[in-house]
Amino acid sequence: MIYVHVPFCKSFCIYCGFYSENLSRCGGERAAEEWSRLVREEASLRKEEILSSAEVDTLYIGGGTPSVLPLSVIEDTVSFLKAILGKKDEDSFEEFTIEVNPDDIVKNGKAYLDGLCRIGVNRISMGVQSFDDNILHWMGRRHSSDDVLKAVDLIRDAGFQNLSIDLISGISGLSDDVWEETLSKAVSLSPEHISAYQLSVEEGSALDDLVSRGGYVEADETQCERQYGILCRYLSEAGYDHYEVSNFCKQGFRAVHNSAYWKRVPYVGLGPGAHSLDGERLRKWNSESFPEYSSSSEILSEEDLRVETIMLSLRTSDGMPFEKLLSLSEEGKVRSLMDEGALVKDGGRIRIPEKCFFTSDSIIRDLL
Ligand code: SF4
Repeated sequence: MIYVHVPFCKSFCIYCGFYSENLSRCGGERAAEEWSRLVREEASLRKEEILSSAEVDTLYIGGGTPSVLPLSVIEDTVSFLKAILGKKDEDSFEEFTIEVNPDDIVKNGKAYLDGLCRIGVNRISMGVQSFDDNILHWMGRRHSSDDVLKAVDLIRDAGFQNLSIDLISGISGLSDDVWEETLSKAVSLSPEHISAYQLSVEEGSALDDLVSRGGYVEADETQCERQYGILCRYLSEAGYDHYEVSNFCKQGFRAVHNSAYWKRVPYVGLGPGAHSLDGERLRKWNSESFPEYSSSSEILSEEDLRVETIMLSLRTSDGMPFEKLLSLSEEGKVRSLMDEGALVKDGGRIRIPEKCFFTSDSIIRDLL
């Protein structure tokens, strides 16, 4: 299970807290090639880790914006990783996801998508965020709602049968009508997977700066809760399975890679800013810098492990084994949350019911 971080974007979105550099300011195509060389060098040095994380057969290229990379750069990187895993060029992964921006897809067109298909990409994750052009403009997104429609057509024409889109809710001033319209347009495109996140003010983001200058006031809790309710109802009526607090899918299309994160299986993160886990207690991360980056690590404490296990499991609709939760949390607390209906026991497993997903953070805090 490999994650590759592409630390480049063409421009920056107002809410973004991810590590990314402006590709043209870094040197454009030359910087992209240098990034690939560094990732391949890192992969060679970490071959053993990569091999021991291969039980879950996924590759995820995220960012940043991977779709700003020339196809040849993606191709070289992927071919190198496949060789390390003993795969042939024509072999793929059970799930191979790449994140894209709609405007790159429209600009690069069919040849680019055919190239992604050729190297084995079988899942596209596209940052849509909204279908309202005013909101997209405010967010600093490079695309319009029309670009999304064109990109989806191109993606489908190229033969991709697993498309995930990201949406953002909880924007101050976003009316329920506009949110419903965004959901309706999203559903009409029939993506296999939808991730919907509430807008949050990330430290160091342009939005953070705007908030501190009084230019934006966060949406209140009532609006966020109401719009989360609309999201759940809308997608359930459209046949989506709400399998994690922020993730919905058609039957058979749960994200294999992300689901494995939630189970804390070993994964290797390559590239600036990427994180890795050995499946137990060793966490590593690369510094957020390019071209030079270095690696740091820590051994998670028993308490870190307890917190992570409860948090990651209880955000999913599968929850966790009941006995395991009892071993990690106070029994009295678990029983009282069950009495309140904030935790539900199904057979040997315990989970937060969908109607309480919105308050899952506070339920989890209670348990911890
Ligand atoms: S949200 Fe995505 S495209 Fe926008 S700045 Fe962040 S990484 Fe780049």
